[in-house]
Amino acid sequence: MSDQRVALVTAGGSGIGRCISESLVTQGWAVFICDIDPAAVSDVCEIDGIEGSVIDVSAPDEVASLISTFQGKHERLDLLINNAGIAGPTAAVEDIDPADWQTTINTDLSGPFYVTREAVPLFKRQQFGAIVNIASTAALFGYPLRSPYAAAKWAIVGLTKTWAMELGPHNIRVNAICPGSVNGERIERVMTNDAAERGVSIDKIRATYVRQVSMRTFVDAEEIAEMVSFLADETGKRISGQIIAVDGHTEGLSNDFE
Ligand code: NAD
Repeated sequence: MSDQRVALVTAGGSGIGRCISESLVTQGWAVFICDIDPAAVSDVCEIDGIEGSVIDVSAPDEVASLISTFQGKHERLDLLINNAGIAGPTAAVEDIDPADWQTTINTDLSGPFYVTREAVPLFKRQQFGAIVNIASTAALFGYPLRSPYAAAKWAIVGLTKTWAMELGPHNIRVNAICPGSVNGERIERVMTNDAAERGVSIDKIRATYVRQVSMRTFVDAEEIAEMVSFLADETGKRISGQIIAVDGHTEGLSNDFE
């Protein structure tokens, strides 16, 4: 078996997943990503040390083919990052279209399940490995107007605890990171949708998001990548079943935007 450590990162084509992938490669890892966006995959695969496949994590057959492609290229898997997740609708519960509910649950909850169930046999064969689920501070509080996202992310916490118990005896660790609002395009889209739904300005939304964090800050994707490295390295070798917020300490997800 090669000495080089290997990571599989879902939705590694952009945003936090790309940042994690780039950070791991810089530290000497081989990285295999998947993403639903072909342009994002071909762009990130220009980076030496990153390879990838275009797949949808919410499609179990596509996930199976991802793992078989991965196994054709790598004989070990050290780290799985279940990062793929969409924001889903911003709407009052009675206005949420069941199709939007289902798409969000399929991507943010079933996706990590499908990928993990295919990856675990690889981990068990080696009797080592680590899984990091990217949840959200939405997994720690009620989150008005974001029902399917909150439901999926709370469920990811349940899966993290459950998988840590199932896989711990096989020397496989499972943790979740809960990012706060991460500077970047996605949080701008989320705030724009929130402002439209509530009929207030985006500045008011931004000020409220910041005010609900004790340290009065958003975070950077690099800070999520640093926590991933901490958990994946020797530093994290006894850490499992933990739900770790990287967020400046969120006090709650407020309903008060006046
Ligand atoms: P992003 O929207 O910037 O990027 C998401 C990536 O996922 C894109 O490349 C997209 O093509 C890919 N993708 C979407 N659906 C997919 C699917 N079905 N299969 C495969 N790939 C798919 O998002 P991000 O901000 O990088 O978020 C990454 C993770 O972090 C998500 O799980 C998200 O819930 C979580 N998170 C983000 C924030 C934030 O503020 N951005 C905060 C907390 C948690």
